[in-house]
Amino acid sequence: MNYKEALQHSIFKIISQSAEELQLDSFVIGGFVRDFLLKRGHAKDIDIVAIGDGIKLAKQVAKNLPDKPKVQVFKTYGTAMLRHDDIEIEFVGARKESYTEDSRNPFVENGTLEDDQNRRDFTINALALNLSKDSFGELLDPFKGIEDLENKIIKTPLAPDITYSDDPLRMLRAIRFATQLDFTIEEKSLEAISNNSHRIEIITNERIVTELNKILESKKPSKGFLLLEKAGLLQYFLPEITDLKGIDEVEGQRHKDNFYHTLEVVDNISKKTNNLWLRWAALLHDIGKAPTKKFNKKVGWTFHGHEFEGSKMVYKLFKRLKMPLNDKMKFVQKMVFMSSRPIVLADDIATDSAVRRLVFDAGDYVDDLMTLCEADITTKNPKKFNKYHNNFKIVRDKIIEVEERDHVRNFQPPVSGEEIMAAFNLKPSREIGIIKETIKEAILEGDIPNEYDAAYKLMLEKGKKLGLINEKG
Ligand code: ATP
Repeated sequence: MNYKEALQHSIFKIISQSAEELQLDSFVIGGFVRDFLLKRGHAKDIDIVAIGDGIKLAKQVAKNLPDKPKVQVFKTYGTAMLRHDDIEIEFVGARKESYTEDSRNPFVENGTLEDDQNRRDFTINALALNLSKDSFGELLDPFKGIEDLENKIIKTPLAPDITYSDDPLRMLRAIRFATQLDFTIEEKSLEAISNNSHRIEIITNERIVTELNKILESKKPSKGFLLLEKAGLLQYFLPEITDLKGIDEVEGQRHKDNFYHTLEVVDNISKKTNNLWLRWAALLHDIGKAPTKKFNKKVGWTFHGHEFEGSKMVYKLFKRLKMPLNDKMKFVQKMVFMSSRPIVLADDIATDSAVRRLVFDAGDYVDDLMTLCEADITTKNPKKFNKYHNNFKIVRDKIIEVEERDHVRNFQPPVSGEEIMAAFNLKPSREIGIIKETIKEAILEGDIPNEYDAAYKLMLEKGKKLGLINEKG
């Protein structure tokens, strides 16, 4: 078969030409070929294999390109990279790899194209297109990768036990590709992943998180998390999530399985938002339920304070996995902490003051919080489902209405501490805090509008009650 169509970008002719000048063969391999055949749109990465010196080829290509891009050389890996037309092009010499027990970094020697295809993780990632002048566009598919693409199946080129044990990152990649592409992992492979799950311990947290993020960014992330759990991998890096598994029963009272519920929430939210951190929030919104779970004869199962506990766990989890401890983490914490707040509003028609308080506490995150709470509705009772959604719709409308009128989203006290001090000739003291709190509460309750005059008047009244004397009478 010939796939010249995949190679229309002018860069391929230049690589072909440069390889010929160096008298070596070159191939485009891996994700670019796979994604072309899957019609997944234009790749941002191109991987080139040279049968010979990949770094030399990269330099020759750069020389032949009109914009003369800089070549970044990674000597230890024997690879080189250049950027052209917003595409990252990576060059490597064909290689043969052998592995040792304790590392995913192999011993490397020069090899043939076949050797290089053998070291690839999956048959669908081992497809190569020839860039040599005489065979330009010819497909090299030694492991029937095309067939596996058509059958939507993930298989390893070599025996799966060896492939996964050699480099355990491939276990996560298999599950990630299955989720992203909606493919099935071959049974033999799944078994090998289960058998080698402990090997995940040699993979760095950063790499694990990269794959987790890609799973979370997929259309239906639950597929990946179910596979991770089934293979026994999830417990290694997200025990907080596997701890949510299971249903307890005491005196005939059961609670729902919060693991499956969580995955449903993640899928729901993924239909509404591409915000990775909101998807993380959905994944973690119930993690506080495992450590707070209690049974009480009168009320059944309770998870008191699970939102607070969960938000503390978010910090520990991010830290352990070496995820950013910045505003993204704080956002996830806040979402988890507030995740039950709008729920009470779903049961009944919300009052203005309840909505004002929600907007005040959630600030700019209020829309994301509503999206999370809507995704959290997983009841199978259609009557309840509709009622909750309708009530949330009313809450959303009220948020807009209340916000337009009262501006409490990023609340700034209408009367400042300095003004209170000036009015009563006070030094910094407890009374100032009390007056500020009174004004804020009155605004949130709807007793006074969020305006200077009304707030000033209330300040004078409260000051009087506190026995303070207004300087101006
Ligand atoms: P994506 O860009 O979606 O991650 P990709 O297949 O391009 O997909 P890369 O990580 O860029 O992924 O890898 C490029 C190619 O290198 C793969 O297609 C595969 O052939 C090979 N490869 C990458 N990682 C491994 C690995 N751990 N083991 C074996 N081969 C790998």
